Amino acid sequence: MTSTPGLKNLVLLGLGHAHVQVLRGLAHSRPADLNLTVIAPRPLAVYSGMVPGFVAGHYTAEQCRIPLDALLARSGARTIAGSAIGIDAETRTVSLASGEAVPWDWLSVNTGPIMDRDLLEVRMPGARRHALFVRPIDAFVQLWPQVAEMAASRPIHLAVVGAGAAGVELAMAASHALQGSGMPQGSHVSLVTGGEPPAAIYPQAVQARVQRALRRLNVTLIPETCVGVEVGALLLANGARLVCDAPVLAVGTQAPAWLADSGLALDEAGYLAVNAFQQSTSHPRVFAAGDVASRVDAPHPRNGVHAVRAGVPLLANLRAAMQALPLKPYTPPPRTLNLLACGSRYAIGAWGPFSFEGRWVWHWKDRIDRAFVARYAT
Ligand SMILES: Cc1cc2nc3c(=O)[nH]c(=O)nc-3n(C[C@H](O)[C@H](O)[C@H](O)COP(=O)(O)OP(=O)(O)OC[C@H]3O[C@@H](n4cnc5c(N)ncnc54)[C@H](O)[C@@H]3O)c2cc1C
Repeated sequence: MTSTPGLKNLVLLGLGHAHVQVLRGLAHSRPADLNLTVIAPRPLAVYSGMVPGFVAGHYTAEQCRIPLDALLARSGARTIAGSAIGIDAETRTVSLASGEAVPWDWLSVNTGPIMDRDLLEVRMPGARRHALFVRPIDAFVQLWPQVAEMAASRPIHLAVVGAGAAGVELAMAASHALQGSGMPQGSHVSLVTGGEPPAAIYPQAVQARVQRALRRLNVTLIPETCVGVEVGALLLANGARLVCDAPVLAVGTQAPAWLADSGLALDEAGYLAVNAFQQSTSHPRVFAAGDVASRVDAPHPRNGVHAVRAGVPLLANLRAAMQALPLKPYTPPPRTLNLLACGSRYAIGAWGPFSFEGRWVWHWKDRIDRAFVARYAT
């Protein structure tokens, strides 16, 4: 494949939360001299905020997916169904798993973080074969119904490994689903925490609310580290074997290993280093947003809210850069609203030092989430 002379070749790599908005903006108003290519495994985005609700049985898989075919068509994008396995900043190409090399004049990366199978296999031998990984989240959503089917046919023990926000939400969602009407009695959910308190990145008051919610849902806390996965069991650091039918790994994420040889500036953890314009600190024709990027000037937690917020300023700066106009700095919000779903149409909210909980919080979250998906799907 070659680039088209006279046109500005912009490649959007990944259809994460920020690029969904870039795409929407370009569908609305696209520069005449833009040659747009979008590379993503599938023409859709999974809205992770609704995935615990999907596991709990409140949403169908379709309700958590933002179909992007219409936006892709309206933006005039050429869509390549594939996954990047490398970027070369010098030759300005993206290499795909298919062997194809896609040229770019301008590149924007929003591929999200990954769960590095090789790394996790070293930490937990057997994980690759026997565990269900929460990322890629699209694959998790496709595979979860098999667990739900097993649980509908007999009582099961499900163990979630990792007690960050995602692990906590998934454990509560699964417990709610397994105790639902029509399910066999006796299913049980454990949360293997690695020794840290659940939701440890949140203030004490939120952690206390989370502990109470886990108790209400009969989730057993196991303050141990998982060091291996076998058929039907987790191996724990204290030597115990935790019998379990369905191990779910929610142990945090890493930067994609394929960025290492890109020639692009990376932070110490291997994420793309970007400045206040969401622009690579080493290559001005490369931009990035969401969990794959690190704002070296204004570090902030990796979450969906930050990824969403970066979308509009990212598009503005892509447009400006391609027209050689001045870029505008984007200041990430100092705090974000975090709403943790607690399985049974109940949620905990955290806003800086403040926290709150109740059914109303879940209904609030439900409205926000449904509105987000609807905005981009239509
Ligand atoms: C169960 C769960 C619940 C969560 N709930 C919340 C929440 O309520 N609020 C919140 O703020 N955060 C939440 N998060 C965190 C949130 O999911 C991430 O922070 C967010 O998805 C990051 O967005 P992103 O745009 O960077 O990447 P993603 O949303 O991960 O999107 C990346 C996209 O790039 C594509 N892609 C990946 N690799 C490649 C490749 N090599 N080549 C091409 N395309 C690729 C993927 O298919 C995907 O479409 C949750 C996470 C989980 C696991």
